[in-house]
Amino acid sequence: MGRLQLRQELTVRTAVVGGGISGLTFSLLAARGGHEVVIVDRDPPREGGDVESAWQWWDRRSVPQFRQIHGFQAVANAVLRERMPDVLGLLHRAGAHEASRIAAVLGADTLPGSEALGQFQCRRSTLEWVLRAAAVGEERIDLREGTEAKALFMSAGSTSRVGGMRTTAGDIAADLVVDAAGRRSQSAAWCAEAGLPTPEDVSVDTRQVYFTRWFRGRDSAPVVRYTRVELSFATLMIYPGDAGWFSVTFFAPVGDAGLRSMLLDPDRFVTAARAVPPIADFLDPDLVEPHGEVLFMGRLSNDLRRGSLGHGRSGHFEPTGHRRLDRGCGCRWLWIACSHLSGGEQVLTGSCTGGDSPWLARSALMEFPSR
Ligand SMILES: Cc1cc2nc3c(=O)[nH]c(=O)nc-3n(C[C@H](O)[C@H](O)[C@H](O)COP(=O)(O)OP(=O)(O)OC[C@H]3O[C@@H](n4cnc5c(N)ncnc54)[C@H](O)[C@@H]3O)c2cc1C
Repeated sequence: MGRLQLRQELTVRTAVVGGGISGLTFSLLAARGGHEVVIVDRDPPREGGDVESAWQWWDRRSVPQFRQIHGFQAVANAVLRERMPDVLGLLHRAGAHEASRIAAVLGADTLPGSEALGQFQCRRSTLEWVLRAAAVGEERIDLREGTEAKALFMSAGSTSRVGGMRTTAGDIAADLVVDAAGRRSQSAAWCAEAGLPTPEDVSVDTRQVYFTRWFRGRDSAPVVRYTRVELSFATLMIYPGDAGWFSVTFFAPVGDAGLRSMLLDPDRFVTAARAVPPIADFLDPDLVEPHGEVLFMGRLSNDLRRGSLGHGRSGHFEPTGHRRLDRGCGCRWLWIACSHLSGGEQVLTGSCTGGDSPWLARSALMEFPSR
């Protein structure tokens, strides 16, 4: 796997827009490579000493999918295992557990390399809590929450060299600005304003919506397995989290108003899920209980932003959302881990996001050289 190569001979002052999964991961790798990092995140300060308070209380208004179903593909596990084993250890101590989805496929575990395909399973909030705790403990990372980045500014006397970013709490001088602001990133507009090349965006509407409800064991952690059932009107999936939590999600086509009104009703949601045999096995009302409302999410697209990483003064590395096959975070991390900054790049945004395999192959595996 490639390695992050911020030029080692000098300390790069790096400003990161966004302290979510990508921004925190990038910052950890950069700081451990000897570089100084300031992260700004516009959401309110995330307080709370444990994963349950992150789940219950963190105000992640900029990340609407924060409490949605999240599975993390094997490559995410591999990046942590190889590059940040201590963080993987923290994640396990926080309650994440290993799982293999290929175990269910007859003979798959005999294929070469299959042993590397284990995943970790936890709530997304737990992963973010762990990454944030690791970042806060890192001497070279200065995490400023409740601060919004607003624009880039150029170095004095230069029309091509980025000098840092403007934020709601003043300017931050930097040699490198990293965009990890997620799918609503404004960095294309910032680059255009600054006269820098703008990235190329590709977006495909999935025409699907999510209805998710969370369950938890009444007295003890229930034994729950990843289970997926294709129904004629929707896909129904159970995804295990950590600490006895698991999500149940209907993935349905947009525009089915009758289905939408039924699934948005918490009781009817549970009745519908319990009517599906393999799912019902995990929803015994004596053992597990539903929590909270039905979480709806629409306007789901698979997005890819490609820029000029490695091609001069500005590169783009823009983490955006993905929907299917658990690729969002894993692809992003793979990209981060493989990023080469050979010098000259000033605005690094980036990532690849989901979509189906051509995007995965093109953006995550082939465009970034392995070491
Ligand atoms: C419904 C849904 C389900 C998904 N399921 C999965 C899944 O199963 N597996 C998976 O791997 N991925 C999944 N994804 C994708 C995954 O959620 C994203 O890939 C992930 O959120 C990207 O993380 P990020 O850190 O790049 O961006 P984000 O999580 O969006 O974080 C961006 C951060 O930047 C901050 N920010 C934004 N603008 C500014 C600014 N101007 N100044 C300061 N801070 C700013 C925000 O506050 C936020 O903290 C799913 C996405 C959706 C929508």
